[in-house]
Amino acid sequence: MDGSSTHNSDPNPAHIILIPFMAQGHMIPMLDVARLLASSGALVTFITTPVNAARIRPSIDRIENSQLPVRFVQLPFHSADVGLPAGCENVDLISSPDLFKPFMKALSLFGEQVKLYLTATNPTADCIIFDSMNSWVGAVAESLGIPHIIFHGPSCFYILCSRLLKKHQVLKSIDDDYKLFKVPELPEPVEVMKAQVMSLMDRPEWEKESEEFYKTEKSACGVVMNTFEELEKSSLDKFGKEIGKKVWPIGPLSLANKDSDGKAMRGKASSIDTVLLLSWLDSKAPNSVMFVSFGSLSRNPISQLVQIGQGLESASSSQLSFIWVVNEADKSEEVENWLSEFEERTKGRVMVIRGWAPQAMILGHGAVGGFMTHCRWNSTLEAIAAGVVMATWPRFGDQFVNERLVVDVLRIGVAVGAKVPTLFVDEMSEKALVKGEEVRKVVEKVMQGGEEGDERRKRASVLSEKARKAIEVGGSSFENVKKIIQFAKGENKHLE
Ligand code: UDP
Repeated sequence: MDGSSTHNSDPNPAHIILIPFMAQGHMIPMLDVARLLASSGALVTFITTPVNAARIRPSIDRIENSQLPVRFVQLPFHSADVGLPAGCENVDLISSPDLFKPFMKALSLFGEQVKLYLTATNPTADCIIFDSMNSWVGAVAESLGIPHIIFHGPSCFYILCSRLLKKHQVLKSIDDDYKLFKVPELPEPVEVMKAQVMSLMDRPEWEKESEEFYKTEKSACGVVMNTFEELEKSSLDKFGKEIGKKVWPIGPLSLANKDSDGKAMRGKASSIDTVLLLSWLDSKAPNSVMFVSFGSLSRNPISQLVQIGQGLESASSSQLSFIWVVNEADKSEEVENWLSEFEERTKGRVMVIRGWAPQAMILGHGAVGGFMTHCRWNSTLEAIAAGVVMATWPRFGDQFVNERLVVDVLRIGVAVGAKVPTLFVDEMSEKALVKGEEVRKVVEKVMQGGEEGDERRKRASVLSEKARKAIEVGGSSFENVKKIIQFAKGENKHLE
């Protein structure tokens, strides 16, 4: 379903509007949704802001060059009106947690721009698919009479968990933040801690937004998810019953990019020469490289970077190599001084990428046999799609629950052992720091691990094969994309 296989022969294609949330981990999968829908015959309008459009320019160019019927529309985002720095149009540009609330305010003002735009140009669009963080879309779509479908970025396992915790009011009855408890009614039971599953929306100051979310969910026609039936069948079935709506899993969305350019250019442009990177990887033995990256929002202070470095350095003496991504926001003179000495000592064994890595391309290379990840869903699912086992190091939000899915349910990962959550864009507390020795131990277990490690790899490889089949012609996700288009065209409005 890459752009190359396009055949848009429908004389009256469904027109679907996509409205992503402004964070890399939300924008990237929505670009893939655009590609999949347009490849399957829909006409797509993708709405974003000028700063975000500039950042995803490589992806926009690829879609436009492949002649897919996707129109990109930029509408203004009034950051300055709510006290944000000019140009602060993406969550990863927020410099302090206090600015998240103004950001969400600017987002609802953006909703007014979207309404004006739709009223003037597209009042007859067949359907809007919007990120669940944009719950203002519900009111806009209802006022224009446009059917709307929610896109949930996290795993179904996490969405279901949150729903069940809310349904049974579990968190209110627990005093000890670090006591393990079972999530009720979960088809695949796991134990979690309150501190790890409390989301922003569970806090009193976000009550209004939380109510708006559930109101919008009621008015929505269904839910699209970046997962696949063969991976999360029991959660998908249970979640569908809980909300009483159709749920369409259409992932893994990263597999919508089949060629190497597509894999290399997801989201932002790569900070490293991909030819150089590929030749470095080609020189390594199969499954001998671990990829270490914590996504676009998690922060690592220098104290934690040093511990990670020590862990990798001591483990790498045993024939292992690493690609380690140091986030743009973690860079400072102090970090740079430390990193350059580290790189000198580990030359040839550790490749440090400062900024943005071509993650899907790296995970898909045969030399890569492990991924140390923060367990946000895109990264987790990209590892599953590539058949790569994981060292799990969750930080906040959905990540601790995804860790349980990876380690306890799917059994394709080993926990680093992080217990204390951190807030995004916030400094990591002393208590949350993970020691280099723990990093070393988990690296060796994941990458070597004996018979247990081999079994883990086999399970990961079976899931990867299922993921590939789901997205191929006739596969479950492929068929669900077609069903969404039929729904938009009014051919299955009663939700089969
Ligand atoms: N990503 C990437 N290069 C990077 C960091 C992230 O390509 O250096 C991509 C990654 O492949 C994934 C997305 O950005 O598709 C990150 O989403 P995820 O949900 O894993 O984490 P978040 O960044 O939202 O914490």
